[in-house]
Amino acid sequence: MEEKTEQQLGKLMGMLKRGTSAPLTVAEAARQLSEAGFEELEFQNTWGIKHGGKYFLKHHGTALLAFTIGKNLQFRDSFRIGAAHTDYPCLRVKPSPDLVSEGYHRLNIEVYGGVILNTWLDRPLGVSGRVAVKSHDVMHPKICMVDCQKPLMVIPNLAIHQNREVNKGVELNRQTEILPLIGTHSEEEPSERGLLSFLARELDVKEEEILDYELWVTSLQQPEITGFWDDFLVSPRLDNLTSVQALLSGITEGGRDRGCNVIALFDHEEVGSRGKQGGASMLLPNVLEKICECFGWAPMQKQEAIYSSMLLSVDVAHGVHPNYQGKTDLTNHPVLNGGFCIKESSTQSYVTDCEAVAIVEQICQKEGISYQKYVNRSDMKGGSTLGAIVSNLLPVSTVDIGVPILAMHSSTETMGVRDQAELTAFITSFFSL
Ligand SMILES: [Zn+2]
Repeated sequence: MEEKTEQQLGKLMGMLKRGTSAPLTVAEAARQLSEAGFEELEFQNTWGIKHGGKYFLKHHGTALLAFTIGKNLQFRDSFRIGAAHTDYPCLRVKPSPDLVSEGYHRLNIEVYGGVILNTWLDRPLGVSGRVAVKSHDVMHPKICMVDCQKPLMVIPNLAIHQNREVNKGVELNRQTEILPLIGTHSEEEPSERGLLSFLARELDVKEEEILDYELWVTSLQQPEITGFWDDFLVSPRLDNLTSVQALLSGITEGGRDRGCNVIALFDHEEVGSRGKQGGASMLLPNVLEKICECFGWAPMQKQEAIYSSMLLSVDVAHGVHPNYQGKTDLTNHPVLNGGFCIKESSTQSYVTDCEAVAIVEQICQKEGISYQKYVNRSDMKGGSTLGAIVSNLLPVSTVDIGVPILAMHSSTETMGVRDQAELTAFITSFFSL
């Protein structure tokens, strides 16, 4: 394996292991940025930002923005922006989740985003997220992270003998048929075997101190390099930690003397980018404006700076699936290990214009970076991502890019081992040239 491939794969695998839910991904991003000398800011405070400085801010625990200021920052050549999402399709634990019946203890969960449900069956599952605990200051509850790697639950399939039609396809009921089992339990047994008592033990607090939580059921499958010739990386959460890690590596390794590089890691993309941590919020435009104001730029200069920006919307693409070749466009078939994808759609589900695409292609050709193009089949709707939403609020040149994967939104996805290095090399160049 080439050195650059191995290096970027190592960083990605670290992120895949640690970023088990949006708050844990943000915590890992903050760790990497702090280690690279980025200083943490808060939106609520006045910023004393300087030329040559590197900064980041977390937004409500599950979104994060980071930016670098060039030593000779000019307002006409200012912002280059990369955006990705921290969330992924999965199962979330509901409030008061304990259900005891038929001698089993189950958890009440809901489906978050476009999950391939049956991929969560018959595998050990853990739990990850954050818990709010009582504090002395009512306006500031204590927030604790939870990342339990111990197998805690399982969602067993129904035996084929009880459904002979199973291989013709099964529609799983989202409320009743995918509840994870956490143990056996007779109804007479005391209730301290429930989720809250587990969390209290994990966090070393009293059960009654726990006020609320956001907990994600997580696949404990570890990232594995797979194949006769080590061609694949098989892992949960490739959508979208590949993009998150490539942006983090790009902004920490790249740098422009005259410009400001920005990365925005938003939550809630899988449910429509809504809410204060989502790509449809005013967070990114407000950060750009605040940066301009810190340097005393007049309102007209601020607009010139923002409108001369370029945005990369970074999210995974569909590689051609050899077992389902008819699901791919007739002339554009991105393959794993063929480089990252530029995603185009005339419906603007991927916002792309030919000038912006040309910029991406020129950078790749100059730097020897592999890329390929992705479009949906004309008779299929395909997906969408952050780019279209962010570009409504920030009407600047935008391109959708990302590594091609197979089995998008399965609990375990597959990518080519060489594509992460190509994506990272491109983003680093975008942030450097
Ligand atoms: Zn995605």
